This record gives sequence, C-alpha cells and structure tokens, in this order.
Amino acid sequence: MSVYQQFVKQILNPFDLWRSGDYAEIQNLREFERTQFLSPEELRELVWRRLRNILDRAYRRIPYYKLVFDRAGLIPSDIRTDADMLSVPILEKRDVQANLHTMLDPEFPKNRLIFDKTGGSTGTPVNYYYSIERKWARQAAMLRHDRWAGYEVGQRFASIWGAARDMPPSGWKQKIKSLIFPKTLQLNSVQMTPELVFEFNEQLKRYRPPVILAYANALVLFAIFLKQRGVSAYQPKGIITSAEVLTLEDRQLIEGVFAAPVFNRLGCREFSVIASECEQHSGMHLMAEGLYIELIRGSRHTESGETGEIIVTDLLNEAMPMIRYRLGDTASWVTGTCSCGRSLPRIDNVAGRVTDFIVGMDNRLCSGVALATFIVSKRPSLGQIQIIQEDYGKILYRVGCGKDVPLQQHDLDFLREQTELYLGNGMTIDYEYVDSIPHEPSGKFIFSKSTVARKYFK
Ligand SMILES: [Zn+2]
Repeated sequence: MSVYQQFVKQILNPFDLWRSGDYAEIQNLREFERTQFLSPEELRELVWRRLRNILDRAYRRIPYYKLVFDRAGLIPSDIRTDADMLSVPILEKRDVQANLHTMLDPEFPKNRLIFDKTGGSTGTPVNYYYSIERKWARQAAMLRHDRWAGYEVGQRFASIWGAARDMPPSGWKQKIKSLIFPKTLQLNSVQMTPELVFEFNEQLKRYRPPVILAYANALVLFAIFLKQRGVSAYQPKGIITSAEVLTLEDRQLIEGVFAAPVFNRLGCREFSVIASECEQHSGMHLMAEGLYIELIRGSRHTESGETGEIIVTDLLNEAMPMIRYRLGDTASWVTGTCSCGRSLPRIDNVAGRVTDFIVGMDNRLCSGVALATFIVSKRPSLGQIQIIQEDYGKILYRVGCGKDVPLQQHDLDFLREQTELYLGNGMTIDYEYVDSIPHEPSGKFIFSKSTVARKYFK
C-alpha cells in the first residue's frame, strides 16, 4: 500500500467514522477478524450464546414473536440444539410485510433504528428495520469479506453495479470527503452498451483498482463484449461477484478474460453479506457470527451435499429480530475444514433467483437486479412483479396482486415512466394479472427473463 493509502486507512477513515458516530464499525471489524479463526467449538459457543439471546429477547419484548411462540407451544429455553430450531415456525416475507410494526421492539430507541427495503428480485418486496449496532456489524462484515478478496480500506475500488443515476456529492462535508478519499469507479449496470464497456475498461486500466465488485451477469456481459472485439481486459487482483447466480461456466469465462480469481458472494439487502469465498475458493464461508443459517428440505435439515432452502436467523438485530426467515435461495453444506484455517462453516451451489438483463430501445442492456432495486422497491404497492421480454421493443409485466385486481392508474403511470427512464422511449408494455407469482418447481424465482438478452450471452 502507498503512504497515502496507509494515511487513509490509519488516520482519515477512523477519523471520519469517529466524526460520524460510526467508529464501532472498526471495533466490529477487529472482532470479526479474530473470531473467524476461533476453534469450531468456540465459534459454536459464540453463535449459540447469541442465538439464545435473540430468541429470549424476541419472546420477552416483541409482540409478534410472543404470539408465534405461544401458538407453537414453545418457550425459548426449549431450544437447545440445531434440531430444536425446526420447531420454531418459518418467517415468510409476507409475514414481515404484514407484521412490520409488531415485529419491532416497542422500547427500542427510534433514533437508533434504520429503515430499509428489499427489491423484488426474490419474490416479495419487504420493508424492515435494523439497529444502528447492526449497521456497524454489517459494514464490518462486508469489509472482512472484501479483505479476503484482496481489498484494503484506503485502496481504490471499482464496481459494476446498479445506480439510479450518477449523484454528485451534496453538502460540503460530502464534497471534501470525495476529494480526499479514493473514489469508487463505477459502471452503471442499468445501462450497458459495448461502447460504455470499452470506455470503462480503459478507465480501469488508468485507475488500477486492485478489486472489482460486480453483479455476476453484468460481468459476464462485460467479458463477452471484450472477447467479441478482441479487446484486452483490465487485470485486477481479485473480482467479487454477487447479487446473482454465478455458474461454473460464467466463472471460467470471467477468470479467463480478466486473468484474476473470482470471489463469489451471497448477500442480500436484509442481512448484507451472508457468505463468501476465501482465497481457497472451496465453497463460501458463512458470516456465522452474525447469522445462524439452516438449510432445510420440508421439515428437516439437509444432509451434507444435499440442496436445501436457506433459512436465516439474524443474531445481531435486536431492534427487529428476524428468526428463521426464508430467504428464497437454496444451497448445500460443504463438509470438512477449509485449508485457510477459518472455522466459519461453508455452503456451496447457491441458486435461487433469475435476473436476466432486459434489452432497451436503443439496444442498451439493463440489469434485472437493478430494475428490481430501482423500480419495484421504490413502489411497494406494485407487490410481486415479474418482467418478461420475448420480443425486441416489448415487455410484459406480470403482476401478482390478484387475477381481477388491476394496478391502479398511479402505479401504471409510475411503471410506464420508469420503464421509459431505464429502457428508453417507445417500449410496448403489456400487463398480465395473476393471483401470485410462484417459485419455479426447481425453487428458483424468476424476476426477469429475456429471450432477447439471452442471445448476447451465447
Ligand atoms: Zn477458507
């Protein structure tokens, strides 16, 4: 690292966090750096101490869980083993939607609550809260897992990610910060064309960030465009792919084109990083100090190697506990210990959501994850949405609010306006109303599917 980068890491960043009241992020990171190397027994002890605490708090303080536990004839002290957790009812996304306020700790200080919402890429948009303490732990967890890929605070960074629009820094503090801290170079995956990709590739070569973070599909598209034109790609030290399923074929393509290892990650808006690869690339280590993860099939836990649904209990969000939340993705356990020395359990074969690119009017390609984030999550009244594109210049919104319940005019206006904003003017929009949009028999949820865009991926 350069002297400047050391200065940012050791002095400026801690000072900035202290000034904004977020210094605990650094303390959390130190703690997570230590606990990843606990013995399996010590880690288990830590996880179970936190799990017992969250179950107990939820039962004593949260009206929703008091009711759920009472109905199931359970008290928290009944839960002593992994198998006992199976008796706690699953928390569905629709449960969170319907019980947002009774899931909140009524005594939790309102000024320490953070409100957030998910996009619609895994089925149902969800609103939720977490505590400021959880925010610090989330940031620290993300940083720990970024460091596995070779990133360090103070270094340059690049991302191929969705952004609503390029926002200049507002306010003098933000402006000063943007001048002092290394900026993040970003290619907006809301609009990807070959020209923008080539330009970004050149910017990367000049800026030289060690690590790139990208939506998996966006990076595949990026790699395809460069390969087709025979343009040499920028070679970072590491690439973090997230937010979308990464197939073995995609990984080989990306690693071949960028000549850098891929560190795949599973994360979501609700819990931030869930699991990611270490330098051994042998499955993904869980963020186990903050999340208790189960893989289930029906009413049992899966055997090792067997695919199951991911069920998440957040161990650190005391403001609004999420206990046995069905994520909508599937994975399998990896057995044995990882040669990196970390005891954090590992999962593999993560699958779940299909978020194809959609082709816009001027042939721009617009990331499905970005559409889920910037259209669906902005308008909870849209409910479940699926975007289907079978012909150029045309899309179908399938809306799961009921067969005979068309969207209201203001929602239709919003969809048209946003469609034009992201996909260009003149797109023909059709609607289909259904009772609900189920997951596929394979367990996948199709948020966006485009036979037009898939042609680019061949
Ligand atoms: Zn490892």
